[in-house]
Amino acid sequence: MNWKEQLKKFVNTPERLSTYVNLSEEERAVLSDNKTTWGTTPHFASLMDKDDPNCPIRKQVIPSALEKQNCYGMEDYLVWKENRATDEVRPDSIARQYRDRVAFTVTQTCGVYCRHCFRKELVVDGNLKLNFNLDEGLHWLAAHPEVRDVLVTGGDPFLLADEQLEYLIRKLRELPHVEMIRFGTRTPIVLPQRIDAGLKKVLGGYHKVPIWLNTQCNHPKELSEETARAVYDLLGCGVNVGNQAVLLKGINDDVETFRHLHQKLLSVRIKPYYVFYCEAAPGIDHFRTPIEKGAELIRDALRGHTTGLAQPMSVVATNIGKIPLMPDYYIVNKKAKEYTLRNHKGELTTLPNIPE
Ligand SMILES: *Cc1c(COP(=O)(O)O)cnc(C)c1O
Ligand code: SF4
Repeated sequence: MNWKEQLKKFVNTPERLSTYVNLSEEERAVLSDNKTTWGTTPHFASLMDKDDPNCPIRKQVIPSALEKQNCYGMEDYLVWKENRATDEVRPDSIARQYRDRVAFTVTQTCGVYCRHCFRKELVVDGNLKLNFNLDEGLHWLAAHPEVRDVLVTGGDPFLLADEQLEYLIRKLRELPHVEMIRFGTRTPIVLPQRIDAGLKKVLGGYHKVPIWLNTQCNHPKELSEETARAVYDLLGCGVNVGNQAVLLKGINDDVETFRHLHQKLLSVRIKPYYVFYCEAAPGIDHFRTPIEKGAELIRDALRGHTTGLAQPMSVVATNIGKIPLMPDYYIVNKKAKEYTLRNHKGELTTLPNIPE
């Protein structure tokens, strides 16, 4: 199946889903009384466990009754998070937290409607209505020479047609101040067929303004042979591929899974970039861990325990930017003449402290 056929056969009815898994009573009940947008591609559905409702892929795709229990989620989360209520006049498509870079939202369609999505109000529930117009966003960018890095996001920007992506990339490269283009897309994981000859033509070629890509993979089970091939093809186009995992309770928040995920990402040539705290958007309380969990997992599962390249940075995404929360057990003592440092096994070593 090519990518368009994958989308035509989108798995978003109980009948279609039943061809991949044996639905539990509970899953059936939720699906029969749910107005939310849900679903994914046949490719991603085929990676689900047929019989286990706790399958990490099922839990990311199939709605849960818990989504209606909202104790901690913030109302109008995206307006807060993306600074939409500030004085600067920007099109709906431009979210800004930093001076030199912005997020440019170009669509609200996805290849999977993640149950944990922090853009749920926009992408999944549809109660926040925004207007995404490529030209309006490009026009704003042209008038903002301080922006040197444009992160194209969604929804999933790779669900745009080749012609639209070609237009977008060409127009961005025409802006003299844009030094790099980034894409945030789950397609390498959920719709690897998208990385086809047509798209490779759009992305490929040597250009002064490079393209960087971050995908989202949250569990080692999501990494298929097709994904490995898609990543290889992206790298062949000169597109670097990183990962932004979301820390999800009961899915990837244990030491074994967390380590395996980051090792397996490297085995398919994806470089771990961030692991995000699951944001305080409404209806996703049940996925959220304590804030410190990401740092603890890096301490207990990754740093020192496995390949240095497998280390993401753990961050909390907020309205004032991403804030790193990394483990801080390393410096045990700092004296005038000497530092005492701790490693991942708890062993100590000392180094001379050289004054500035
Ligand atoms: C995440 C994000 C960025 C990019 O952040 P990096 O730390 O540079 O990856 C830029 N703008 C907004 C609004 C974002 O949410
Ligand atoms: S692919 Fe991204 S934008 Fe779409 S539902 Fe998943 S997390 Fe949200």
